[in-house]
Amino acid sequence: MKKITVKTHHERELLDITAQVEKAIREFGPITGACMLYVPHTTAAITINENADPAVKEDILNSLTHLVPRSLEYRHVEGNAHAHIQCSLIGHSVCVPVEEGRLRLGTWQGILFCEFDGSRNREVWVIPLAQEAA
Ligand code: ZN
Repeated sequence: MKKITVKTHHERELLDITAQVEKAIREFGPITGACMLYVPHTTAAITINENADPAVKEDILNSLTHLVPRSLEYRHVEGNAHAHIQCSLIGHSVCVPVEEGRLRLGTWQGILFCEFDGSRNREVWVIPLAQEAA
């Protein structure tokens, strides 16, 4: 397993971490199969979506704000219940195909780290799932 460090700079943001993930996967050697990317946090998540038009990331964040607004009455006393819920809606892991040590994403896909309660120092764990000789 390899760990990627992600420094977030805003309370809420989607960061394209595709290049960092590619670098970490290359360090495993020419593996073919898949890697799981796991976020070990309760107010941050990970997803795969379009990385070409930055408006897509804004639309995802805005839609999540409408679905789970900060202003609802929550029982969690930390004041970040909306961030916990948005995190669970997106999810803590994605599985990406890997071929000969390289990510195999679709043309418009990027790996997006989702911060819902920043800014913080975060981690993404890169875990090879399957491996066969290249
Ligand atoms: Zn909390």
